[in-house]
Amino acid sequence: MSPTPITVAYGDGIGPEIMTATLHILQAAGAQLAPEVIEIGEQVYLRGNSAGIEPAAWESLRRTRVFLKAPITTPQGGGYKSLNVTTRKALGLFANIRPCVAYAPFVETRHPNMDVVIIRENEEDLYAGIEHRQTDEVYQCLKLITRPGCEKIIRYAFDFARQHSRKKVSCFVKDNIMKFTDGLFHKVFNEVGVDYPDIEQETWIVDIGAAKLADTPEAFDVIVLPNLYGDILSDVAAQIAGSVGMAGSANIGDQCAMFEAIHGSAPRRAGQDIANPSGLLHGAIQMLTHIGQHEVAERIHNAWLRTLEEGIHTYDIYSAAHSREKVGTQAFAKAVIARLGKRPEMLEPVRYASSNTIKPWQPKRADPAVKVLVGVDIFLQSRENGPDMLGARLREYGSAQLPLQVITNRGVKVWPNGFPETFCVDHWRCRFKSEQAVEFSDVLALQERLHHAGFDVVKTENLYTFDGEPGYAAVHG
Ligand code: NAD
Repeated sequence: MSPTPITVAYGDGIGPEIMTATLHILQAAGAQLAPEVIEIGEQVYLRGNSAGIEPAAWESLRRTRVFLKAPITTPQGGGYKSLNVTTRKALGLFANIRPCVAYAPFVETRHPNMDVVIIRENEEDLYAGIEHRQTDEVYQCLKLITRPGCEKIIRYAFDFARQHSRKKVSCFVKDNIMKFTDGLFHKVFNEVGVDYPDIEQETWIVDIGAAKLADTPEAFDVIVLPNLYGDILSDVAAQIAGSVGMAGSANIGDQCAMFEAIHGSAPRRAGQDIANPSGLLHGAIQMLTHIGQHEVAERIHNAWLRTLEEGIHTYDIYSAAHSREKVGTQAFAKAVIARLGKRPEMLEPVRYASSNTIKPWQPKRADPAVKVLVGVDIFLQSRENGPDMLGARLREYGSAQLPLQVITNRGVKVWPNGFPETFCVDHWRCRFKSEQAVEFSDVLALQERLHHAGFDVVKTENLYTFDGEPGYAAVHG
């Protein structure tokens, strides 16, 4: 087998030590790799590159398409960008896969039977970075959820479950509140689920789902979530498995993939040869299965389990009750290497089959819907006028075709017939809506009338129907 080119970044803090240990194990296990080393992170940031990565590093990543990355330190303050977010977006790494496994009784945990895989959507949701200040008092972050984005991540989760002989996929959403965005994620989960009748499927509202996960993680198998919930809950899951220093994660795209530990660069532990290399090693094991070196992945993982159950532990998981020997980073790597070819006797051995490779789904574009403009939400900044006064004035500027229907403040209806008790800020959403189709020129003419009358229009949002279905949330109350 010819060696697979990969890009390697040694990172900051404990990064170089855990990367050295990890590469040492990979090499001893017979992984066929041709690493290209790039520099990213703190030194690059401090040289004045706010993204923390230089053009030559991108070239290597685009060439090898496989990235094994040690943690990096993001300098605090300043305009530094998160390198993780930059890399995920630039390389289209839409899926974040994080297995969270308990290793009881060898690593302490309150959940000895926990074995959950979190599959987090990695590119959309509130992480699009589209934020605006609209008025003195109001700031906005756009939450974008797309149908192709949902289809890709949800199908990936079901394929993952099927190929790893997992029984159930759970979906976490908040669609009782966000009926359009989280509603779409839920809907696509139900649609895609039809193709996987062999896999149990369920949907939880994220708040109670999170409580259940923290309390009874054994109730879950694979969980698929939109970006923000996945970000938070994957850390919770790794922590309660008892092993935040031990979990790895894969970031998978159509063309490229990045593998890493979930923890940071732990600067206080740097340079002492004490850090646990297991998180990065798990990332590397995921990498080996991704590039088709399943046998090597299996050999390393089983040797690692054997090392753990023989009580050879780094300081972070050392306990007098369960450990036999406290070792440093490189000695831990040597202990794993010494056990290559052995399998665990008490923990369940792993098996990686070549069929475990998942090909990301290419969503098919549906035919465009019949889209009809029926109105506009106009957002105004105003602090002089109360809702009744504002409503009375605005009514004059609507037309017979595009009348003022309702005004809300922070989503609460304040006109007509609002409550005087409602607390209002300087940001009013004024809905002008027709019963029939209107022209865009009608919407522009309305805005122009408002502008000439001295209203401060800060944003507009067109109201459309798609195949006759409203593409906007109704105002209640
Ligand atoms: P951290 O994960 O680096 O450390 C948290 C705690 O866990 C510390 O007490 C540390 O000693 C311990 N720890 C972490 N990994 C360990 C290991 N392998 N072995 C033993 N103990 C370990 O989190 P932090 O302190 O919040 O962040 C430090 C830096 O890392 C920050 O600059 C942050 O931006 C960065 N960071 C980077 C990544 C990444 O590159 N993927 C992820 C998270 C944080």
